[in-house]
Amino acid sequence: MIVELISIGTELLMGNIINTNANYLSIQCANLGFSMYHQVTVGDNKGRLSEAIKTALLRSDIIILTGGLGPTSDDITKETLGQILGRRLVMDQHSRQRILSYKVKFQRGESFDKEMEKITENNWKQALKIEDSIVIDNNNGTAPGYIVEDDDKIIILLPGPPSEMKPMFEKDMLPYLKRLQDKVFLTKMVKICGIGESQAETMIMDLINNQTNPTIAPYAKGGEVHFRITASADTLDTAGKLISPIINEIEKRFANNIYTTSEDVTLEEAVVKLLLLHKLTLVTAESCTGGLLSGRIVNVSGSSEVFTEGFITYSNQAKQKYLKVSQETLLTYGAVSEQTAREMAIGAIEASACDVSLAVTGLAGPGGGTKDKPVGLVYISCHIGGETIVREYQFKGNRDKIRKRSVVAALDLLRRSIMDVYG
Ligand code: ATP
Repeated sequence: MIVELISIGTELLMGNIINTNANYLSIQCANLGFSMYHQVTVGDNKGRLSEAIKTALLRSDIIILTGGLGPTSDDITKETLGQILGRRLVMDQHSRQRILSYKVKFQRGESFDKEMEKITENNWKQALKIEDSIVIDNNNGTAPGYIVEDDDKIIILLPGPPSEMKPMFEKDMLPYLKRLQDKVFLTKMVKICGIGESQAETMIMDLINNQTNPTIAPYAKGGEVHFRITASADTLDTAGKLISPIINEIEKRFANNIYTTSEDVTLEEAVVKLLLLHKLTLVTAESCTGGLLSGRIVNVSGSSEVFTEGFITYSNQAKQKYLKVSQETLLTYGAVSEQTAREMAIGAIEASACDVSLAVTGLAGPGGGTKDKPVGLVYISCHIGGETIVREYQFKGNRDKIRKRSVVAALDLLRRSIMDVYG
């Protein structure tokens, strides 16, 4: 099934509002296994909307339109579509009754603004339906949605406001669209850390090149690489059988670069799970990440069982005061050095009596870089099982990117270190 999305609204074209409906509906259609080849955004202009609908009818099976269902004169979706299909707009008594009771309900409410909720003549425009269409009630507003079946084409009309569109889509449109699926779809995710996107893609290029069913799609996500593997089949069981060999092959190739094969698990969750499993407590010592690392860990509910404290030691004095980094080390090697990272990790362990520590020091820029120590140079140290490991990284990008990449690298170093030491 080929689906096309037409977002209607001059505000969208002017950049006054972000097209979040398109984002939401694209995800929904992908989950349904529909192919979306085109998305069109068009203003409240009858000629151009008409052109967009006619084009979509030529190349797509399902057309989803959002917006332009309201009461005002610039709301032209129904009449434009009706004209193209040669169908009249007729009064739908059920919608008329609903509009009336919706307004009355507001009029009884305490916060009722009489002027705002007065029924004006143009309100009844929302009760007009395209002849022979299915009316879908709007439980969060007055503009109903519609399903129009026309030969082998299906046209779905949804209101523009996301607070009306989403509940309507989920309650009524989704079950309708599910019935059109001739196949079931199963998706699995493999999440990888510590390997760049191009290298990761190269490592499975043969699988990607030969993909038909399942399909493999790589995504770069903030220092991680995610592979989405999707299979379609008559039953979920068959789809699972198609996916399994691909997952096994990817697991063989990426080994412990993979931190999860579950869509919902984040890197910090995988790390907290490992700490819990081995009953390890963690302390962090952060310089350039300034709390971002501990923030990611605290994202995980239940992290209090393993994460006891964190130090943000941005200045040299703070590194000396709280982590006992020696003045000599700071003077000889500098704050961004292997030696300082090591002493930060050891100092954090001594100050906290935790089992494991993770320390980050680096140059996030944009200023402060030198030839020897360019912006993006980061040292991360992990003290675990009586040993102190230090790794050097050279990240690219702006300050924000460098800090975020440092956090991902730190979590990944901790994950690998726990697996190396504790199995
Ligand atoms: P209404 O009954 O409120 O007039 P409508 O179906 O006519 O609904 P529009 O008038 O096109 O919808 O849009 C109403 C509001 O909904 C917009 O001002 C905007 O805030 C929001 N909206 C519309 N389209 C989108 C979209 N694609 N993404 C996000 N928000 C949207």
